[in-house]
Amino acid sequence: MKTNSVHSFAAQSATSSLGSYDIARREPGPWDVEMEILYCGVCHSDLHQARNEWKNTIYPCVPGHEIVGRVTRVGAEVEKFKTGDITAVGCMVDSCGKCDNCRAGQEQYCLSFPTFTYNSEDKILGGPTFGGYSTSIVVDEAFVLRVPEGLDLAATAPLLCAGITTYSPLRHWKVGPGQKVGVVGLGGLGHMGVKFARAFGAHVVLFTTSPNKIEDGLRLGAHEVVVSKDANAMAKHTASFDFILDAVSAQHDINAYLSLLKLDGTLTLVGAPEEPLPVAAFNLLLPRRNFSGSAIGGIAETQEMLDFCAKHQIVSDIELIPMQKINEAWERLLKQDVRYRFVIDMASLKA
Ligand code: NAP
Ligand code: ZN
Ligand code: ZN
Repeated sequence: MKTNSVHSFAAQSATSSLGSYDIARREPGPWDVEMEILYCGVCHSDLHQARNEWKNTIYPCVPGHEIVGRVTRVGAEVEKFKTGDITAVGCMVDSCGKCDNCRAGQEQYCLSFPTFTYNSEDKILGGPTFGGYSTSIVVDEAFVLRVPEGLDLAATAPLLCAGITTYSPLRHWKVGPGQKVGVVGLGGLGHMGVKFARAFGAHVVLFTTSPNKIEDGLRLGAHEVVVSKDANAMAKHTASFDFILDAVSAQHDINAYLSLLKLDGTLTLVGAPEEPLPVAAFNLLLPRRNFSGSAIGGIAETQEMLDFCAKHQIVSDIELIPMQKINEAWERLLKQDVRYRFVIDMASLKA
């Protein structure tokens, strides 16, 4: 199959920093869209994956699944997109399309596993899929999103993972007016969780370990901010929440949040720390609490989220960086020093 060489940044092992690497992208097939990548958000999952924290990484690993770009070519059968369109790609580039979950528009839960944008088997070229820390990508049109007009493009990129991963569970659990909703961790996901929960009409309480994020938490839409290290402040909220979204990237005490749920309240985990989180049985039994998880969102829901963001002028708060600063940005992520998503300006890799 004909391929084209594309510049990227890759990790060659769990301990190496990211560096320049050329990858092969397929020549667009009849249903493919080829995009020049303009911006790519930096998700904490990129770091977990490249450093093999989930123990399944294939090297070289080119991360990046918050992609906004411009269409450069389309295959003969492509109907939804044309050259010059502003498009986006999130965490998935394919799925079986036939299983119950795919047919229900929940491709992220495909029973044969979706093909993720990076670190999956590339079923067409062989080898691993390579993500958005690169200058261009080729994706089946069914997994390409349309970026609505009127959104800042760099600040839109994080919507493709941080946005949909928080939007989807808040919608699924029907968060809305009259409810008290908590968001744990003010990082890339957490700050989008705060914005969406506020936009859906809930009373929003942010939990953070970082006292220097209190003002930002309020500015981003929280009605209250609780510094979670303050036991008295936490105790005031015991058994009072309808819903809590936990977006923490590292080990932490999940029981401290379960105990804040009221009868039939739900805690949904979207953070994906390396090690299991112990749950105390009585924290679930009394008073009948739900502990659940959620992964990104389906393609139709991702488009719905983008359209919602355009209508309500919601984007991510970002710090734009050149590709060459990625290793520094990852170190800052680990220090909880991100306000609130790094986005790579891919022009820096083309120069
Ligand atoms: P991030 O930007 O690094 O934010 C994580 C936040 O968690 C930090 O800003 C910090 O908030 C809090 N935190 C970090 N270390 C902590 C610790 N030791 N104890 C307590 N709080 C801590 O990460 P992200 O990109 O938002 O991703 C968050 C997690 O979600 C990652 O594990 C990622 O892999 C996962 N994820 C899951 C999905 C999914 O589909 N479920 C999708 C994307 C990402 P404060 O400073 O406010 O405490
Ligand atoms: Zn992500
Ligand atoms: Zn499927």
